[in-house]
Amino acid sequence: MSDTRGIGMTSARTRERLIQRLSDNGVRDQRVLERIRQVPRHVFVDEALASRAYEDTALPIGHGQTISQPWVVAKMTEALIEHRLPQNVLEVGTGCGYQTAVLAGLVPQVYSVERINPLLIQTRARMRTLGFRNVKLKHSDGGWGWPDYAPYDGIVVTAAPPEVPPALLEQLDIGGVLVIPVGPSGRQDLLRIRRSEEGYEQEVLGSVSFVPLLGGTA
Ligand code: SAH
Repeated sequence: MSDTRGIGMTSARTRERLIQRLSDNGVRDQRVLERIRQVPRHVFVDEALASRAYEDTALPIGHGQTISQPWVVAKMTEALIEHRLPQNVLEVGTGCGYQTAVLAGLVPQVYSVERINPLLIQTRARMRTLGFRNVKLKHSDGGWGWPDYAPYDGIVVTAAPPEVPPALLEQLDIGGVLVIPVGPSGRQDLLRIRRSEEGYEQEVLGSVSFVPLLGGTA
């Protein structure tokens, strides 16, 4: 990385404090902690917010959207890879690409869709600068999944629909895992749904707060 913005405030020590905090707050998977240690979160937010990038909070990224809180990214990633490392993952809600970047260092191939085009254009440029080769991005309504590359071993949804979109269940492979917040604004359940030969099995992982999954594109 040639980017030296906010050096000091984004130093190794600052990042290490975040890792410690995530670990203190129940993130156990060392693969996930190591990946979060590696990903330069300050590059995913506006320069004016770079000094806050290693706080464990969501931050605004424009267009009424946010970069997810690191703890949430860690927990969702952990839930996704806990039983088996997926070979291909679909992410719905690319946003600034932070969760995408975390995933891209852990699994062979990541597909991610975003409904707000200006956000996606920015993120595309950022991913190119960071040199990711195993990420494909698309401007579309992720409520329909991304049928071209289905089925997926893993699907992670970073915006909350009122109910699980049927297309995502269909595009999940047998043995695959879908991690998704479901419910009304401000109080959603984080669900992990596993598909087996017999059908779908659902667990509630906890309470979360995500922006809503909206229909159509912008
Ligand atoms: N993954 C991001 C989180 C971004 S916030 C991170 O790591 O920080 C959620 C994103 O979901 C927003 O950018 C929002 O525009 C997008 N979104 C909402 N509804 C969507 C839909 N139907 N299809 C695709 N993206 C959607």
